[in-house]
Amino acid sequence: MHIFISEKRKGNTFYITDEELRHLKVRRISKGETIGVIWEGKLYSCVLVDNRKSEALCEIIEEVHVEAPEVHITLYQSVPLELKTFELIVQKSTELGVRKVIPVITGRSFRNKEVLYKKKERWKKVSLEAMKQSGRPYKLEIEDVVDINEIEPVHQVNILLDNFHRGAYISELELKTVKDIGIVVGPEGGFSRQEGSLLRDKGFLSVRLKPHVLRAETAAIVSVGIIVNL
Ligand code: SAM
Repeated sequence: MHIFISEKRKGNTFYITDEELRHLKVRRISKGETIGVIWEGKLYSCVLVDNRKSEALCEIIEEVHVEAPEVHITLYQSVPLELKTFELIVQKSTELGVRKVIPVITGRSFRNKEVLYKKKERWKKVSLEAMKQSGRPYKLEIEDVVDINEIEPVHQVNILLDNFHRGAYISELELKTVKDIGIVVGPEGGFSRQEGSLLRDKGFLSVRLKPHVLRAETAAIVSVGIIVNL
């Protein structure tokens, strides 16, 4: 089922406009076809009833039940030097039900804040596309960039994917009943020794993934994938 995002509703009718309308026309959806519509954090199955030049109208058939992960994951992702990789992480985080992504500047990450502020709109767009593709109706929050020394262990469990300290394997942690987890992931070159100690001293738990050294994006996606599938 093709899914679209609506910004306007009157009674049981959703209006598809602008960029979403362009997508609908490109996909050649015609009257009478069933589509999915995301509206205010919920997904509805709808039938297209009118397809005008400036807007398409669809009527609700029913709300589609979507099971979101019970655990709220906040991903503190050091911004990779290769900025496209951050888009991949945003896309996969959306598919995997992560609630919040916070871009982090570290000694070896991409460090130009001005560039990163401008990237936020692009990341939001990537996430919206991933929502439609995966049927996730609730938004991924993408926060403004922070420095590594601003991160605090404010979650029920605070994980540091550590490239130095030989901590517990993620599979050894008791995470099944945990409702709020923060995960900190380094950039391509890893954290510096000082950054690792700073986070450990604050109370972050060093955690390892099997079996080898993973690329930053692999580490982020795998750790989230493991946790939401427990
Ligand atoms: N240059 C670093 C090294 O050789 O140790 C590798 C950095 S790795 C490419 C990027 C980030 O992914 C790390 O900072 C860490 O957060 C995470 N990471 C990668 N593999 C990991 C593993 N096996 N266990 C825990 N974290 C890992």
